[in-house]
Amino acid sequence: MTIQPVLEVDAVTKYYGSFLAIQDIHFMISKGEVVGLVGLNGAGKTTIINLIMGFLRTSAGKIRLFGEPVLPENAHKMHPKVGFATGDMSLFTNLTGRQYFAFLKRAYKLKDDKKLGELCKQFNPDMDKKIKTLSRGNKQKIALISAFMSGPELVILDEPSSGLDPFMQQKFLELINHEGAKGTTIFMSSHYLKEVADVCSRVLFIRDGKLVKDVSRAELESSHGKAVHITTSRAIRPPAQSSLLGHQKTANGYEMSFIFKDSPIKLQQWLCSISYMLDFTIEDHDLESAFSDLYSKDKSEAKNV
Ligand code: ATP
Repeated sequence: MTIQPVLEVDAVTKYYGSFLAIQDIHFMISKGEVVGLVGLNGAGKTTIINLIMGFLRTSAGKIRLFGEPVLPENAHKMHPKVGFATGDMSLFTNLTGRQYFAFLKRAYKLKDDKKLGELCKQFNPDMDKKIKTLSRGNKQKIALISAFMSGPELVILDEPSSGLDPFMQQKFLELINHEGAKGTTIFMSSHYLKEVADVCSRVLFIRDGKLVKDVSRAELESSHGKAVHITTSRAIRPPAQSSLLGHQKTANGYEMSFIFKDSPIKLQQWLCSISYMLDFTIEDHDLESAFSDLYSKDKSEAKNV
């Protein structure tokens, strides 16, 4: 029996006029996956999310939610199953949070307030001011609560933690972990690889409108290590358990950079065994460094993220 993906993005391209915003994007998300979409400003994250929500029409390619094609004219049929929040809440802002949630409760035909009550307790938003007068963080709390309050099968979040203070960001990550563990399918965009890597089982990287990487959390975790840059008087090989970033002959000797993924003791032993050593540096190669490597324009796309 084949399991129907919750979301299928199949060869999707989007032009705004003559501007190519995203190009030939493919991916699928299965039930229960928590997937992050990471990219720099203007990479195309919001465009992809707006296409999935049916707010925009694709220029080419198809999107299916729960097996049904998404088109702007039928997207509303899918929306009861989908929770959505964006970092830039601009609808219903003349209502207070309390009025907005009462409206959504009727729209979703929710029988009880249990989930809403739990979320409000967790995020403690200001419920009695018009949404348009709220601080950015409080608006964001309202948007997040509205995305989860109906217990949807799929939640799509566009830069969901923007505007939240560090304490609320932590609450947000706990919510994603809790919902993910319950089997809710979640797709969220972010600028922050660290945030996404903490809660997502898979991360998609988008650059200049193209999907350049689709990696599991295990692959992301294996990107941790030490970045070593070594100069030697003779050419040498990198140690086992390392990924070579580059090597070249220079006026000073032979330079080589690699990510070492084994224990620091083994790295120390390897360094001590090099008799042609002229110089070396060691830095932490964390996720953010991996992200920078991927996004630095002058490097190839085949990076060890
Ligand atoms: P950010 O992280 O800054 O929110 P993003 O990754 O969400 O960026 P998009 O908003 O999807 O990026 O924009 C992708 C590209 O499409 C950008 O170059 C943007 O200027 C362009 N774009 C977005 N909306 C439109 C529009 N309505 N008309 C023309 N170009 C647009």
